[in-house]
Amino acid sequence: MKQNTHIILIFLFLVFSASLYSQEEGSPTQRTSSNSNEVTLNFACTTLEILPQDSDFPSSIHRGKVLISTRSGDYSYYTNYQTWDGQVNIKLKYQPNTEIYFKIIDPDDESPYETNTQGNDNIGGLGTLTINGITGTSISANTNNNGEINGYLTITNQYSGDNYKVLASTDSTFPNDSRTVETTNLIAWKRMYIEPHNSYQSGSFLSFNYNNGDTYLRVWDRGDLNPGDQIIIFDKYGNQTITTINSINSSTSTSFLYINNLGRSYPKYSGVRKLSDTRIYSFQYDHGILQNAFGKNGNGVDSNGNGGVFVDYQLLSGNFKTIPNFYWKVSGLTDDHNFNLLKYWFENQCTGCNIFMIAALGNGGHIQTPTGFSIEYGKTDRNNNLTSIYIYNIGQSFFTPQLENIAANEYCVHELGHQLDIGHNDFPHIHQNVNHPDHTGIETCIMTYYPDKGTGHSEYDIQCINKIRRAKDRL
Ligand SMILES: [Zn+2]
Ligand SMILES: [Zn+2]
Repeated sequence: MKQNTHIILIFLFLVFSASLYSQEEGSPTQRTSSNSNEVTLNFACTTLEILPQDSDFPSSIHRGKVLISTRSGDYSYYTNYQTWDGQVNIKLKYQPNTEIYFKIIDPDDESPYETNTQGNDNIGGLGTLTINGITGTSISANTNNNGEINGYLTITNQYSGDNYKVLASTDSTFPNDSRTVETTNLIAWKRMYIEPHNSYQSGSFLSFNYNNGDTYLRVWDRGDLNPGDQIIIFDKYGNQTITTINSINSSTSTSFLYINNLGRSYPKYSGVRKLSDTRIYSFQYDHGILQNAFGKNGNGVDSNGNGGVFVDYQLLSGNFKTIPNFYWKVSGLTDDHNFNLLKYWFENQCTGCNIFMIAALGNGGHIQTPTGFSIEYGKTDRNNNLTSIYIYNIGQSFFTPQLENIAANEYCVHELGHQLDIGHNDFPHIHQNVNHPDHTGIETCIMTYYPDKGTGHSEYDIQCINKIRRAKDRL
């Protein structure tokens, strides 16, 4: 955090000097040159101006955000000055054919948990500025006949929260007056995407392919299904068939649901449920809870005055399919079954990218701890970008729908922490029932198993924050 009075004074001075010259701004460029003695007149910009400024970021919440990467086809940046991942266009306006000096500076990180006031604290350095094919951190160039210089700043490809300003001056010493101007504070943000899915509360999923002609469906456990039930079989492409269970033969590892030939095939991990039971496991994403952990305002300061990890998230909209019921405890299903099920239904399946499938599931079972068994609220397969949030289990511990929803969002923050590179053994507090404070000191780091979930307060501690900010970007 920086409270630097002379920066404010410089700003006031710039505002004052800009207003003095405001009469001369505006359009269009006029030029006369009837003979060689006549000077070139240009009314476009006699004051030095560099863009982007604050006002070039239309949303004040997203002011200064420059995205390190986006998914293929996503060009939804926060300023028109960004047209490419990891780059921001820089435009300078002044008199024509004049030499201008540029340099990049690294301002102080404004995160509340970063308490010194010194700049030069980027992990990835200054980035580079490119103008007319010349690249460097400190370069000069001449304005063109229109009085413009156009170039671009290349930021880090990895370290979220690194920040930059580009300074321009008519004087190579960059004096602290109107001869020198600077862009707004430009801050590197990662972007992740969430593909949300609900799941059915009835039935199960196929444990083997169903081939056209078969007179049985195979599932690991029959669950709530009984002979005589009208059922629906459904796959990820939207195919579905309604039929009736003639009889059931259950063994320990497989249940055979006898049916008449369905007339088409269904692959393993297709769903089967009671036709009449459309109840689902789901939760509502709480942007307040997610933004408190991942970050909200461009400079890293949230609405509650806390800091985040500079990760912008997009909740993908689209009619993502409701997936089959998953119940771990009764059928001896494993994490592998859990994640193979999700993998089949993941529509934006990708490796090495920042799109994460989050499935609201039923019973995720229990895990063994030194003191016995503890209930499982969520689980992540980082290699395949898959996360399960076990809504049934959360409901066993948080007794109102409101509390259940708050807790589901907090477990989301925990699981997404794993997706963003926090491993089980990274720090001694991860997955331990320890009172290890988050960066605000109000609660424990969201990555602990300390029983302070369900309050809506979701923050990482400084170790986890630094790990996430330094994590290699996966796009
Ligand atoms: Zn975990
Ligand atoms: Zn932590």
